[in-house]
Amino acid sequence: MPEHIDLLISECLAVTVDDNHSVIEKAGIAINNGKIVALDKIENLAQSYKAKRTISAKNKMAIPGLINAHTHAAMVYFRGLADDLPLKEWLENHIWPAEAQYVNAEFIRKAVKLAALEMLKSGTTTFCDMYFLPGVAVESLEEMKIKAILGVPLLDFPTPVSRSSEEGLKNARKLIESLKGHDRFIPAVMPHSPYTCSAKLLKQAAEMSKEYNIPLQIHLSEEKWENEKIISEKGMSSVAYLNELTVLSERTTAAHVNWISNEDVEILKKTKTGVIHNPQSNMKLATGICPVPELLKAGINVGLGTDGAASNNDLDMFGEVQTAAMLHKIAKKDPTVIDAKEALWMATRGGAKAFGLDQEIGSLEVNKKADIVLLDMDKPHLIPLYDAHSQLVYSAKSSDVDTVIIDGNVVVENGCLLICDEEEILNEARIFSRKLKGVPF
Ligand SMILES: [Zn+2]
Repeated sequence: MPEHIDLLISECLAVTVDDNHSVIEKAGIAINNGKIVALDKIENLAQSYKAKRTISAKNKMAIPGLINAHTHAAMVYFRGLADDLPLKEWLENHIWPAEAQYVNAEFIRKAVKLAALEMLKSGTTTFCDMYFLPGVAVESLEEMKIKAILGVPLLDFPTPVSRSSEEGLKNARKLIESLKGHDRFIPAVMPHSPYTCSAKLLKQAAEMSKEYNIPLQIHLSEEKWENEKIISEKGMSSVAYLNELTVLSERTTAAHVNWISNEDVEILKKTKTGVIHNPQSNMKLATGICPVPELLKAGINVGLGTDGAASNNDLDMFGEVQTAAMLHKIAKKDPTVIDAKEALWMATRGGAKAFGLDQEIGSLEVNKKADIVLLDMDKPHLIPLYDAHSQLVYSAKSSDVDTVIIDGNVVVENGCLLICDEEEILNEARIFSRKLKGVPF
């Protein structure tokens, strides 16, 4: 008797991102109760399962849902507001003033919808977000069905939503309590950086992450001056400084990590800190190059992130994967560095491992959550197909995303979002941009 299941994806080319980087041709993926219950050649599965719905995925490639491991989602409303500037000037003269003027609950509610729409349509199923009012963001994200790790950015100075670091910590605790046990949202503690947080605040954040056993994410050693400042003030590197304050642990992910020494790599390895690589943001702001080949060699979990759309200028993980694969080749003058498998691994498995979510997401494997992206391979730029990993990393584009499945539910089909009105989300963004700059479109 065949087993009854919710969904069967048949005849896809499955790029599993399992430990062996297995690729299965004419694969079937059986899904029930939100999880993958079987994955094999379709001829081995067809008789065993009777599905409520079957998706015929001939000429489609199946990959794990992508994990955007560091972003500031609502900043999509500041996309293109100020470009071609150094980080400090960009932040202090453009982004922070715009945030002070415009960020409020209504802004967050609308902007995260645009961000989630962009991410879902480009194959991202989970993202890690450091931005204001995450409690408000979840109201919109509930509707969008995307998964998220969310935290309040903690800073020493007043922000658009809190007057002091104490208030920030209070808000963080409130968020953690409100998201306890939520199946799609994970609360996190997010001290902004070693140069915007006092030692006291960094310690308090670390204690909170330990108390609740939840992720902590921080910007770390993004620019050269930051590391030099910490060295001159504290007598040690940014990485060593955070280690001394017990901020680094297996719960911690550090974004950027561009300016580090071999000793810093050892500290990151010893503390099991994950690193989130943001190649496009680093290139655009010319902040530096994260030594990803060295980190991977040391066995450190490296995820990929877009960073905010104000510094990228999109939330497209396909672009990020390709950039990651290429950046390190030219940086090392060695075309063998960061191959296609490693680049895809960072965008899926690496992110999952960095957040301690590897048991649930990051690969197409039995017992994992059915977070699956199907790409339409019937495109001129994807034919012929000799190597699935190469095709994905060097040829595929986010516009090839056809279907997105989260926890076994189809949320994008034929490239369109099924769960809410796309046009309304786009219109709200246009209305905001006119308010901000009087842009006539
Ligand atoms: Zn960032």
